[in-house]
Amino acid sequence: MREEIMAPRSERGLQQEAAIKRLAERFSGQNMTYRITTLGCQMNAHDSEKLAGILSDAGFTEAEREEDADLVLYNTCCVRENAELKVYGRLGYLKGYKRRNPKMRIALCGCMMQEPTVVEKLNKSYPWVDLVFGTHNLYRFAELLEEMYDADRQVIELWDKADRIVEDLPSIRKHTFKASVNIMFGCDNFCTYCIVPYVRGRERSRKPEDILREIRTLADEGVREIELLGQNVNSYGKNLEEPVSFAKLLYEVSKIEGIDRIRFMTSHPKDLSDELIAAMRDCPKVCPHFHLPLQSGSDRILARMNRHYTKAQYLDIVRRLREAVPEIAVTTDIMTGFPGETEEDVEDTLSVIREARFDNAFTFIYSRRVGTPAASYPDQIPEETAKVWFDRIHKTLEDVMNARNTERIGKTLYVRAEEINSHDKSMLTGRSAENLLVHFKGDPSQIGRIIPVEIDEQMTYYLIGHPVGGPCNA
Ligand code: SF4
Repeated sequence: MREEIMAPRSERGLQQEAAIKRLAERFSGQNMTYRITTLGCQMNAHDSEKLAGILSDAGFTEAEREEDADLVLYNTCCVRENAELKVYGRLGYLKGYKRRNPKMRIALCGCMMQEPTVVEKLNKSYPWVDLVFGTHNLYRFAELLEEMYDADRQVIELWDKADRIVEDLPSIRKHTFKASVNIMFGCDNFCTYCIVPYVRGRERSRKPEDILREIRTLADEGVREIELLGQNVNSYGKNLEEPVSFAKLLYEVSKIEGIDRIRFMTSHPKDLSDELIAAMRDCPKVCPHFHLPLQSGSDRILARMNRHYTKAQYLDIVRRLREAVPEIAVTTDIMTGFPGETEEDVEDTLSVIREARFDNAFTFIYSRRVGTPAASYPDQIPEETAKVWFDRIHKTLEDVMNARNTERIGKTLYVRAEEINSHDKSMLTGRSAENLLVHFKGDPSQIGRIIPVEIDEQMTYYLIGHPVGGPCNA
């Protein structure tokens, strides 16, 4: 079920509202449809909720397939080359459909569009793309759509930095009971492999009062679970006129009535403070889950990546987190095949996996991104070698995850039922406070509620259990 939210409007928000109204009038009675494909991280997913909200307010409905949609929109990612190649592949495929349906318009936005070489290529070789915009002017989507429909040429609008933070846009969320809230944008860390600081810009934090107002509105509308989003939430608030820490923000969000779970993503280990660990311990609403990207367990590689922590420092953070919050689940990101990496470095990574006992991880092979320092390092790793290392890392992770999950058998986890299981309609699928995926017998009326579930079985990436003691919203 989907829900629409209309937040109070800023001046920019009001301009967008006027543009949305004009679009709705223009297409009234035409049954316009759209399809959005989102690639990349949760911030992109959250941006797509806003793009869908704007289109819905303009009278567009969601098409089942992009081939049938009047507006096809790709919200792109540029962190890995594969995601970019996928977009070019889809554009080639859609060209034929567009010929058959002259009403079809194709729009592209997101991080990939902030790369000048990409835009040049689109302009030169993909003239059937109708609209291109970036990460900083996403809030202008309604006005840009108007321009696109008025023009009979490709419309490209890209800004190299944000002029302001505009968050009061309509939005469509997948779930009525949980929502994401942006607390900051951009990143100042410049890890040598990462393109994000170049495409998302420097760190900008939203004011705490704006964030709290948005969450209160969401709580009034029935949202119970909030995920605070930022590229590096641990450095939240440092650049505000009146600086405030992320831990302080967590304490404030915890006070909001109606919200029972608070999550956040993503944290950089170098900025993780004792104050934040204390907030996790002291705020019962803050979920016992910490996503702490490791990337590599080798000090030499971490230094080359410009990560500003060592293997020992990383493990010490995990130890302190577990000491403060014993039931905490720690998840991570691990990269292999970084330029100059050796067998020995991979061994260091494996030893951190065994010692930290991660509950889950995103593992990936280094992707060379033009414009980043690591792209010009001479000692690039052949793909076949990186694949072998990737498999070893994956196998070690699975062993650790199996051991962690086996310890959970017989224990009761508090699981928010999120949806009907896609394979077995008599089961529900949800997330425990630790963010573990759990399947259990239940009925649709329980969706959105927190149910105590005793774990019977573990399957590496998910758990299976049965409800105990009746429904519980505690
Ligand atoms: S912290 Fe590093 S990896 Fe994460 S977004 Fe910033 S530069 Fe990229």
